[in-house]
Amino acid sequence: MTETSPFSGEHNLPRNYAADLLTIDHGDGVWLFDRAGNRYLDMGAGIAVNALGYGRDDLADIAAAQMRRLIHVSNLYTTEPTLRLAQRLSQARIGAWDPDFAAVHFGNSGAEANEAAVKYARVYAHRSHGGSKHKLLSFHNGFHGRTMGALSLTHNPKYREPFEPLVPGCVYAPFNDAAALEQVLDDSFAGVIVEVVQGEGGLSNMTPEFAQALNRLCHTHKAILIADEVQTGLGRTGHLFASETVALRPDIVSLSKPLAGGLPLSATLISRRINQQLNLGDHGSTFGGGPVTTAVALRVWEIVDDSAFLADVRHRASHLEHRLSQLQQRFPFVGKPCGMGLLRGLPIGAGQRLADIMTAILDNARENGLLVLRSGSNVIRIAPPLVISEGEIDEGCSILASVLESVAAQFKGDLYE
Ligand code: PLP
Repeated sequence: MTETSPFSGEHNLPRNYAADLLTIDHGDGVWLFDRAGNRYLDMGAGIAVNALGYGRDDLADIAAAQMRRLIHVSNLYTTEPTLRLAQRLSQARIGAWDPDFAAVHFGNSGAEANEAAVKYARVYAHRSHGGSKHKLLSFHNGFHGRTMGALSLTHNPKYREPFEPLVPGCVYAPFNDAAALEQVLDDSFAGVIVEVVQGEGGLSNMTPEFAQALNRLCHTHKAILIADEVQTGLGRTGHLFASETVALRPDIVSLSKPLAGGLPLSATLISRRINQQLNLGDHGSTFGGGPVTTAVALRVWEIVDDSAFLADVRHRASHLEHRLSQLQQRFPFVGKPCGMGLLRGLPIGAGQRLADIMTAILDNARENGLLVLRSGSNVIRIAPPLVISEGEIDEGCSILASVLESVAAQFKGDLYE
């Protein structure tokens, strides 16, 4: 596929972004189109953001109407869409369990949602138990964002080390290891932050046993349990919150990616006892929770907080799982599909040339009209819009099959079971 762009060859975005960025012109359903009219089946959804697909008149109409009425007021005032969304989110249940969320802090990104979460955990610990209870625990292969606080909680040295020194008091433990958790966690911890599916770190799923250990030990040591549902929340796993699937009982939940249908918005849901410890001015955001993003988010919430919608996501997710299992059976270097719901991965078995092979898979897919993502070092991540049809899943998986075929021929000898 060729793309014609006035910017071909160079751009003025920083060098931390790829030199050959695809310039996308518009989208429709689960399809994206570049300036030359080439179309791409989007199985990445803007990194698990565009849950309801592209070209949504309903969302555009809500945003346009709200923009004509009022775009911004800051946190010194509020608006009706902000208050209504905060009310809906604070009434949310995690499966049958009522977490008693009393308040919602709005920000603009996943990292900001987690910054708010750990600030609330620390201020709660300071005010309820004193300043020595300040440590924060996170897990190997977890990812919580790139601001200095969220980065301090992200274990992978690749993201962290160039920016050190970071926030003191951050400790890492192995994921899904209840015995190690028991060893590490003590009364000096203010909070623990964890993902139910490690979206960036290789798509490992939390076990129910580990969820139970987190619930129990956070309770014992009076540490605030934070579920980072930035990637897994709002239907991605076929449930409103992934925490429901393992009976995790968080005091705080962070949400962002799909919350406002592609507009930047995050929400940090906090339980009553934390809210009771907050004072005026403890935290804030100029843009967070403005009327445009929250008006759109109310519509997104109405769509995803629906048992029929979620059952349909689960149905299509099992179709995707079946197709991915077929790829595993056909290619010896493809491992068992990992992840959950419509956040799935295919591990690739490769030796020293792994990085080249992963790049070749993603580039070759793009050349053939399919956009997929990477997770960790060796997992092809598939996170399509939640509205993808079975036929579109079949189409994407058949492109992926031919991509794996040609990469297998190109890298013969470097791929293993
Ligand atoms: N938390 C998780 C689980 C994520 O997957 C991400 C982004 O991928 C973030 C936090 C950071 O979100 P953002 O890039 O919007 O700051």
